[in-house]
Amino acid sequence: MRITSLARCFRIFDINRLSYCVRYPFSSRTKDMVKLLKFDLESPDPLVVERAKQRVIDGVERNLVEPETQSRNDKILIREMLAFPLAKILASLSGDSFVKRRYARAEANALRRFLEKEPQFASQLSADLGVPITEGFVPFVAYANAAPEQYKLVNAELDSGRVRLRRQETLVEFVAELFRQRIEEDIAKPMKVPKRYTSIAAEIKGEVNRDKAYSSVKEMNLGPVTTSEFPPCITALIELAQSGAPMAHQPRFTLSTFLINANMPIDPIIEIFRPTPNFNENKTRYYIEYSMGKKGSGTKYSAPSCEKMKFYGTCVNPDALCGRIKHPLSYYIVKMRSKKQAGDKSGA
Ligand code: SF4
Repeated sequence: MRITSLARCFRIFDINRLSYCVRYPFSSRTKDMVKLLKFDLESPDPLVVERAKQRVIDGVERNLVEPETQSRNDKILIREMLAFPLAKILASLSGDSFVKRRYARAEANALRRFLEKEPQFASQLSADLGVPITEGFVPFVAYANAAPEQYKLVNAELDSGRVRLRRQETLVEFVAELFRQRIEEDIAKPMKVPKRYTSIAAEIKGEVNRDKAYSSVKEMNLGPVTTSEFPPCITALIELAQSGAPMAHQPRFTLSTFLINANMPIDPIIEIFRPTPNFNENKTRYYIEYSMGKKGSGTKYSAPSCEKMKFYGTCVNPDALCGRIKHPLSYYIVKMRSKKQAGDKSGA
């Protein structure tokens, strides 16, 4: 069934309700709508398939999915809503644990963003995920499985096998984690779907840019930032900044986005730029926070790939490892991981 005819029979619902279903694609309300639409996996709208595919790729590469929720066009909203169950199917069929894990996390990140603005929906959504919250309390087992690390049972208020979710942010984190776990469970199960989806899932596996996915190392638990493991291009840029020579916009952008994505805290980054001509601490801080997505549009910028670095002439002194990677952050990750492994072995 095409979206146009779906939309025609769907006008009984208003745009705000559809938008809710796009924001919360696992909710009971959304499931009812999808059932009503009789979404047919045998002959789906190609645009829904395309959105589903892109949703998985975005999730893996950017650690975030950004469904169109603001549209006033019911066709677009229906497409977004239907893309979610199909994206789960595609992630599952990829058979790639990295893709599955990243995709599930990205969906949870999107949910967290929406719920931070609309916490009033969190309890209902928790119930939709199978964990009812009664008077702020959740069952002990559910809490132990899904509560964010920092809110674990120390100081938790217990009552008859239940735990109180005291703070709003705890509740939001809890529901986001429940959602992530639910997606991981769903996409781990074998799925019987038309064969065409297997080839689309294979395309995703081939197309997804893993270097981009690694553009943030925050979640990789690599330990404190270690400048001695930086790639030669970044070492050269640090030397340039420290020398007090003028630094054009592109090298400045490259260095700051690399350091941010390598998880270096803001203050040491500022110190690196301090010797540059006309240094202004407030401006530099603003610029770094802007690149982190804490200011302005909220977009977090990734560091340029090796290809772009070559284009800008900032790829210098490449070594043997450079021949095996496509992104300066991949270089750093490989070095840090082998350092960690060497440390683990010598400690054994
Ligand atoms: S190949 Fe990549 S990591 Fe190596 S120096 Fe060039 S830009 Fe840097």
